[in-house]
Amino acid sequence: MNSPHPSPLKRRTIRELPDELISQIAAGEVVERPASVVRELVDNALDAQANEITLRLLAGGVRLILVEDDGTGIPPEELSIAFKRHATSKIRDLSELENVGTMGFRGEALAAINSIAECSLLSRTDEQPNAWLLDGRSGELRPAARGRGTSVEVKELFFSTPARRKFLKSDATELAHCIEAVRRHALARPDVAFTIWHDGKLLEQWRARQGSNALAERLGDVLGEEFLNHAVPVQQDFGPVQVIGYAGQPDHARSRADQQYTWVNGRFVRDKVITHAARSAYEDVLHGQKQPVYALFLRTDPARVDVNVHPTKIEVRFRDGREVHQAVRRAVESALAAPRSAALTATLPESGTPIAAEAPTPLTSFNSERPPLPSAGLKTSLPAPSVPIPAGGMVRDLPKQQALGLVGHEVRELAPLWNPPPPEASTETSPHFAAKTTPTPDAETEIWPLGKAVAQLHGIYILAQNAHGLVVVDMHAAHERIVYEKLKTQMDASPGLRLPSQPLLIPATFAATAQEIATAEGFGDTLEQLGLDIAAFSAKTLAVRAVPVGLHPGHAVDLARGVLSDLGEHEATQVIQTARHQLLATMACHGAVRANRQLSLEEMNALLRQMEATERSDQCNHGRPTWRQLTLKELDALFLRGR
Ligand code: ADP
Ligand code: MG
Repeated sequence: MNSPHPSPLKRRTIRELPDELISQIAAGEVVERPASVVRELVDNALDAQANEITLRLLAGGVRLILVEDDGTGIPPEELSIAFKRHATSKIRDLSELENVGTMGFRGEALAAINSIAECSLLSRTDEQPNAWLLDGRSGELRPAARGRGTSVEVKELFFSTPARRKFLKSDATELAHCIEAVRRHALARPDVAFTIWHDGKLLEQWRARQGSNALAERLGDVLGEEFLNHAVPVQQDFGPVQVIGYAGQPDHARSRADQQYTWVNGRFVRDKVITHAARSAYEDVLHGQKQPVYALFLRTDPARVDVNVHPTKIEVRFRDGREVHQAVRRAVESALAAPRSAALTATLPESGTPIAAEAPTPLTSFNSERPPLPSAGLKTSLPAPSVPIPAGGMVRDLPKQQALGLVGHEVRELAPLWNPPPPEASTETSPHFAAKTTPTPDAETEIWPLGKAVAQLHGIYILAQNAHGLVVVDMHAAHERIVYEKLKTQMDASPGLRLPSQPLLIPATFAATAQEIATAEGFGDTLEQLGLDIAAFSAKTLAVRAVPVGLHPGHAVDLARGVLSDLGEHEATQVIQTARHQLLATMACHGAVRANRQLSLEEMNALLRQMEATERSDQCNHGRPTWRQLTLKELDALFLRGR
């Protein structure tokens, strides 16, 4: 029989592999497809301080990848060394490895690529009167013509390893990956110009951007104005990890996670900690399967991050994942928190501008002058919780009605919204909105970002007039968010507070892993704070004996599993907060004003004012928008006015 495997009985001697084969094996890690080559070559061009990088491709990069730069160049005597394995100009010793500031440092890209394709290097430094061309196969070196910089040509990728060539997809798919690779670089380096040609056609051209608006402009160039118009600037530069960039508004989330860009010290990375942190910043405003969009640039001391854990360096390891998680989550959260209606006032008195067209505050570098965070000052204007939470917290054994007091109170406090007191008594009985609704009708339109209520539509929408035109509010969605934010503020103000708990008549048991049982035992107190009582039932079974008041017993196991798995991975305080928020959201939904309720103008105005003062009031708890602006311009267009 003809077996492809050597006989297991016959021992083969140990031998060192030939150099060529070692490089081909290494290439398996570094080069998966043409886009991997593009990434490595653009990395090199940026490391050589190029200002302009041109990429030329044939057949999706399979037949040709040519990267030209105007960087420092390579002197002729070093050209052949560049193709050697582990040959690099970027690090010299271990200390440099630990503080690496360049994209490359492993010295294996050119060697690997040269082992699986026909390569040549054309380069010229400032010192050379002419350029030199090195053939990667033959090693032949001869004079040639070009200006300062380097051109690397890679032809017929995988020509020597046909098995791997079969893994390639269509030219169009490979091309798309190549473009994506350049995008990641281009977003991180707005100061460098990029041009992409394919089969002789110009595909993309992003000119170098300078100044304080550079990042915003490049984002617009690369991801489109659509991205920029629906994103808010992110900016957090205290602590060991700085985060800047843009985060998409929740109502512009996508069904795929294809616009989530993150960089660490200028290097594009895919990192679980960062992705999780960003997603959790959205968890309050984006539910379900929707994927947020964002471009986040992290900066930290190179010694706090290990970039040498993955051959293509797309994964990194942080010395302290928690500090990274916290920084990203906080940065994105506070960017999303400011109600967008605040931005409306800022643009007054100029009217007729759609909200979407508001240019986000530009951000470029970590050192440039920055405007204050949009949410600054908002916190203080939030209405103080009018119902004080009992200092001792809620004891878990409180009877149900009493334990629900918090929610009940909240609903009662907002009750005047749909159950107005007689007009003459209004200032006394509902001081929290009556006092604010006194300005003359016209002044109100000017003063309040969301304007003055004029009518209610089908018991669902509030129509209001503001300086820009018409505001339409989904009243249930808006009220639900306000109730939720209030509950949250009250809860977060007393972190020791325990959620009221109700025992289950029949404990809900489920098969648990050793890890889940250990977590349940180790975090008993944390679970108790969430109103959960989970105990080991047998060596492989856990039993949920109590759940938070208000939770349907049918959801007990889901909640328990979710919390246990989160506790295994994340910090306890954060898990508590997340789980509490989810429970509060459910309560808020029940507490919020239902559709088909007739509201008085006064009640509608009160709701509008509360929206303006409430963080995240632009989306309901399910991530849908709570209000929309129709500008006079848009209304005019509807009626073909002024044409
Ligand atoms: P690394 O980037 O990890 O150092 P590479 O194999 O990618 O390894 O490149 C080897 C060396 O070749 C680099 O260290 C650099 O000195 C030189 N080099 C590669 N590309 C360029 C370029 N475009 N311009 C200038 N020097 C380059
Ligand atoms: Mg390199």
